[in-house]
Amino acid sequence: MTTVLKFGGSSVATVEQIQAIASYLKGRADAGEKLVVVVSAMGKMTDSLIAQARTITDRPERRELDRLLAIGEEQTISLLSIALNSLGTKALSLTGAQAGISTMGLHTKSKIKQINGELLREKLVVNDVIIVAGFQGVNEHGDVTTLGRGGSDTTAVALAAVLDKRCEIYTDVDGVYTADPRVHKTAKAIDRISYDEMMEMSALGSKVMEMRSVELGKKYGVHIFVGKTLDSQKGTWIMEATETMEQKVVSSVSVTKNVLSVSIKHVPQTDSAVADIFELLSNRHVNIDMISQTTFDGDVFLSFTCPLDEEEFLEEALGDIMNRFTTVKVDRHDQHAKLSVVGIGMRDATGVASRLFAIFRAEAIPFYQVTTSEISISYTIAQSDVERTVAAIAHAFEL
Ligand code: ADP
Ligand code: ASP
Ligand code: MG
Repeated sequence: MTTVLKFGGSSVATVEQIQAIASYLKGRADAGEKLVVVVSAMGKMTDSLIAQARTITDRPERRELDRLLAIGEEQTISLLSIALNSLGTKALSLTGAQAGISTMGLHTKSKIKQINGELLREKLVVNDVIIVAGFQGVNEHGDVTTLGRGGSDTTAVALAAVLDKRCEIYTDVDGVYTADPRVHKTAKAIDRISYDEMMEMSALGSKVMEMRSVELGKKYGVHIFVGKTLDSQKGTWIMEATETMEQKVVSSVSVTKNVLSVSIKHVPQTDSAVADIFELLSNRHVNIDMISQTTFDGDVFLSFTCPLDEEEFLEEALGDIMNRFTTVKVDRHDQHAKLSVVGIGMRDATGVASRLFAIFRAEAIPFYQVTTSEISISYTIAQSDVERTVAAIAHAFEL
């Protein structure tokens, strides 16, 4: 039986922390376990590498950025392997490419296409611990790629999917909570959560698990445990929903900060204008969210949101749009956040939206856009209103 363990950036921020993890892993290896360990870059290394590239240019070539970012995780795997071997535990570090992780798609947001599980199994015969660099792989051209921010979670779950479907994610909080426990001190720990709810929370901004990792977990039936590094008394199991799992109507609140809201006025009322606009946005790879369109007195009004860190792509796309349609007027707001409530019980319950609107009314909190999915409702609000809104919702739904 092989277990995949993942340690996030803040858990491996110093050499001392890496040594403490090595001792812990040695204990498990000595007890007879075979381990595959995925690590992130040390501390804020990925941010620093991005910042370094940006001191040269605002738009580093994405291929070169990937080459640079991959270094972060490669530093950690080597140090952890040195630490384990110095304790007498047979360990081997592998980059994504060496671990047989092939990817497809764009640089800086690649997706895992395939993993060579056989290769890892072979290496586990002669080693007790294999350490794999998270967040990276290799594409069809042999170039190093990265999987998007937070992508080490995906590396870990994907490796578990081709091994024995056991994955432990270790981070700086002791599990998944009803809201970000660093921001909302009264948030409550969740013992067990369904893949669907966790996926929705991740997609809506709870960065404790990267969204694609949960999606893979569900697809391949990986049992995922989320806990605190070197302190795994408590934690959260992510699994299929069971009969006994509490199906609360609202079980958590997720927040995506740094949302850019865009409004476009005077869109020509032709059959193709809206499609053309979204095509121009897509050509520049802008990730669009929360779309709404209204027509009033023959005037078409379009609005949508996108992540603030895609502002450069957005500006290019808006330039293309204004060139194509000279009548349009564009307005943007970069101080917005998206706040979402998630609950699997929403599938069957009615009246949740009405209760939420009543909270916004009672607290006099303005909101700009609302969207719903089967198990969530999201609002764009001012970034400065996030905390009081979460507090009011948490109070009303006993989160
Ligand atoms: P790592 O570097 O280990 O991958 P991350 O910073 O990506 O860690 O994720 C852990 C962080 O996720 C926590 O520090 C916490 O602030 C944040 N977080 C956001 N929402 C939640 C939630 N609902 N439950 C737990 N943590 C959350
Ligand atoms: N180091 C990468 C990041 O900071 C990947 C990860 O930590 O999951 O996004
Ligand atoms: Mg993370």
